[in-house]
Amino acid sequence: MQLKRLEIKGFKSFGDKVTIYFGEGVTGIVGQNGCGKSNIVDAIRWVLGEQKTRALRSDKMENIIFNGTKKRKPLQMAEVSLTFQNTKNLLPTEYTEVTVTRRLYRSGESEYLLNGVPCRLKDITNLFMDTGIGPDSYAIIELKMVDEILNDKENSRRNLFEEAAGISKFKLRKKETLSKLDDTQQNLDRVEDLLFEIE
Ligand code: ATP
Repeated sequence: MQLKRLEIKGFKSFGDKVTIYFGEGVTGIVGQNGCGKSNIVDAIRWVLGEQKTRALRSDKMENIIFNGTKKRKPLQMAEVSLTFQNTKNLLPTEYTEVTVTRRLYRSGESEYLLNGVPCRLKDITNLFMDTGIGPDSYAIIELKMVDEILNDKENSRRNLFEEAAGISKFKLRKKETLSKLDDTQQNLDRVEDLLFEIE
């Protein structure tokens, strides 16, 4: 699976639409301090569903929308699209090219799209789960993460191996199922209480 294209408009320092094409092999992004190199990585994290503003180096989500310059007005919407080549079907979908899009409006409204079709965040999370790609995955490694893995903070080393081994999705499903079982048990307890009162 190969990253093909990243389109950014209205995200952080990208007031104009910018398209970055990724070829085969390694892509390096160079530029002077503060020109927006890290914002590109933030855009990739964001479009993959990142919800933690801290991970995006922002205080609140609205601040990821281009907030203007001396010469330009702030924009009302941020939009990022990331396209993957999926010829080997590593992503569980029939499409050979998959584009994920996320939009955020100043009103707080947000949208996710998969190949142009509106979807839920959960659909995107499920699509990328155990592929190594995702906001928290090992596909994007920052210096901070290297420290965390070396120090094994909050079981981060184990989490990394679990994602690589493809068992994260089963752990998540187990958690969801246990939570449903818990709800059901509470409902059953309530029914028993009611029956007891009636009798
Ligand atoms: P360095 O090499 O120093 O790490 P960098 O190239 O990685 O820098 P970034 O951190 O990606 O740079 O970009 C910082 C720039 O992005 C700053 O000039 C900041 O003003 C700008 N920026 C961040 N958020 C917004 C926003 N919402 N609207 C406009 N500009 C923004």
